[in-house]
Amino acid sequence: MTKTLKSAQDFKNLGITSPEITQNIDTVSTKYAVAMTTELADCVKNPSSDDPVLRQFLPLIDELTTLPEEREDPIGDWPNTPVEGIVHRHKDRVLLKIVSICPVYCRFCFRREMVGPDKDNMLRPEQLDAAIDYIANHPEIWEVILTGGDPMMLSPRRARELTQRLEAIPHVKIIRWHTRMPVAKPDIVTAEYAQAIKSSTKSVFVALHANHANEFSNAAKQACANLIDAGIPMVSQSVLLKGVNDNLDALSDLMRTFVENRIRPYYLHHPDFAPGTSHFRVSVEEGQKLVQGLRNTLSGLCTPTYVVDIPGGVSKAIATPSDAREIDGQLSLRGQDGQWRAYPPSEK
Ligand SMILES: *Cc1c(COP(=O)(O)O)cnc(C)c1O
Ligand code: SF4
Repeated sequence: MTKTLKSAQDFKNLGITSPEITQNIDTVSTKYAVAMTTELADCVKNPSSDDPVLRQFLPLIDELTTLPEEREDPIGDWPNTPVEGIVHRHKDRVLLKIVSICPVYCRFCFRREMVGPDKDNMLRPEQLDAAIDYIANHPEIWEVILTGGDPMMLSPRRARELTQRLEAIPHVKIIRWHTRMPVAKPDIVTAEYAQAIKSSTKSVFVALHANHANEFSNAAKQACANLIDAGIPMVSQSVLLKGVNDNLDALSDLMRTFVENRIRPYYLHHPDFAPGTSHFRVSVEEGQKLVQGLRNTLSGLCTPTYVVDIPGGVSKAIATPSDAREIDGQLSLRGQDGQWRAYPPSEK
């Protein structure tokens, strides 16, 4: 296969036999952008909606069901947008959304109403100027988080230009790229691309969005190595998704795969209330059980922070169950054996 999968026919060619699924693909794609790269299609082991990779990109009719609690702007980008392309919710860091296209379209995307090839693809030059001016005029901005869309849709030349413009702002110290490109289109993330985004004056981090260990083809591993070998540290970002990774084995494999590839697990996101995503949602209680399970069984390097975005643009909330709580007015600590013990201990 050579081209990105977009139509019902493309998904049929992958071997999906269920007519209920294939006949709805084109209907769903009139509402939401559809794309799966051949590189990720090659990671599919079982061509059905149960496959943990395919399920992330295969349009299902469930997407046309929107629940009352679901909203177009689930994490509140809009109320925190002072100029086009900037989300300034936390004092010392901003999101800079330059492109609204992605190499793949995740069915559970929290910005699904804002991304896709039919949206305004890119900030216009004068909008980008205004966004950069906003950053330059706010000395409290210490970190710029490039997101979108997928910022690695920028050509190496444009990625370099952007890096240079941010390098020119003295108070910006950190440039963080949030991307799916190393797994979605690993061939883009070459050693040259790493050089394009690297900086000698700022710390550059790349946060990789991946949700299942099967996404890590050899080429994907090499793409990550290209970044890390260039001196760019990587962290991970995953979404807890029903039918994809909502079990301890899948999550453990995923976290270990990150660490084996020198990527430090950072966030496990609870899925947001994006429209038409209820078939991916698990409860926060289930999520908490799973992260407690990770903590009890895996290396500390393999444990992400479990976060839920409070709807409306407030902030993230950490939902990782705490090992410290007050019991009868006394601080108690939970051991990995599940027992709570007073701290300090009342007797030796
Ligand atoms: C998640 C998020 C950030 C980054 O938060 P960190 O906890 O620093 O990773 C920044 N701005 C907005 C609007 C966010 O949603
Ligand atoms: S790569 Fe990110 S922004 Fe793009 S569709 Fe997936 S979740 Fe949404």
